[in-house]
Amino acid sequence: MGKIAVVGSINMDVVNRVERHPLPGETVSGLETAYIPGGKGANQAVAAARAGAQVLMIGAVGQDPFGGPLVEALGKAGVNTAGVLEKEGTSGMAFITVDAHGENNIILSPGANGRLSAEDMEAGLIGAAGGSGGAGLGGVLLQNEIPWETTAAAVRRARTYGAAVYLNPAPARKVEDEVLALVDVLVVNETEAAAISGLEVASREHAEAAAEWLLGRGVGEVIVTLGAAGVVYASKEGERISAPAFRVEAVDTTAAGDTFIGAYAAARDRGASVQEALRWANAAAAIAVTRPGAQSSIPSADEVNRWLE
Ligand code: ATP
Repeated sequence: MGKIAVVGSINMDVVNRVERHPLPGETVSGLETAYIPGGKGANQAVAAARAGAQVLMIGAVGQDPFGGPLVEALGKAGVNTAGVLEKEGTSGMAFITVDAHGENNIILSPGANGRLSAEDMEAGLIGAAGGSGGAGLGGVLLQNEIPWETTAAAVRRARTYGAAVYLNPAPARKVEDEVLALVDVLVVNETEAAAISGLEVASREHAEAAAEWLLGRGVGEVIVTLGAAGVVYASKEGERISAPAFRVEAVDTTAAGDTFIGAYAAARDRGASVQEALRWANAAAAIAVTRPGAQSSIPSADEVNRWLE
């Protein structure tokens, strides 16, 4: 079993519940405000750690009142935070407003995430690899909430260490062919699959076609997540799997995708087969959607195992 390094974003989610969203220029009263640690990188790190993996976070927080609590939340979840830098200015923040119908508005302020350089990443990954030429590094998980140059450089660096490269290009963006060719496991939802491939992705059949397109660009394994419809999986070795989601009463799907990825990477790292890992990750994500918030909703390995019994 190797170590998993996550190079990515760390945010404080400032969540306001309102009766209805304000119109431009209007002020409305909030019903409730909550601070919930989030950010796709941090969420995936927490998901992998709660799933039982040894996880190191490489990222940055600001010198503001949120920096300390964000690092503390990661530590409490069992994530090694030695690779988290403190940068001048604010921490990453997501200002989320949810109305009575559950409809969201989000302003994402990158803060320190936007200042995580390729040099910062290099230093963090060298630490994670422990001077052993990368032998101890099982996987590197990457998203798209830090500068893309840093993420693309991390893909290349992880390859030189022989670590499995997991890329979740969310929020959606086009990914250069040169980067796709270096990715071992690409995890995308329908929007992200469409943004990369340029294909319409609105059904399982479309998702399967997009997965083939991505394999054609040199990706090792493609997982397209389809919300309540589960996932489709395709590998360059020719394996094709359709793994259904578990049926649950969804309360809040925040971090569903992040929970899936962290749990999948952890399961593969401990030697689970693709089929087992997909089922396990679908279960972890199903539990997460039954609970509110980002990191607050991510289950532990024990919970997932009990739930699957
Ligand atoms: P988010 O951005 O909200 O984190 P996403 O768009 O990246 O999510 P989805 O495809 O919506 O990702 O969901 C990821 C996984 O979470 C699914 O593949 C499934 O395992 C689980 N999931 C999501 N929604 C549901 C649901 N309603 N019921 C059961 N499982 C769900």
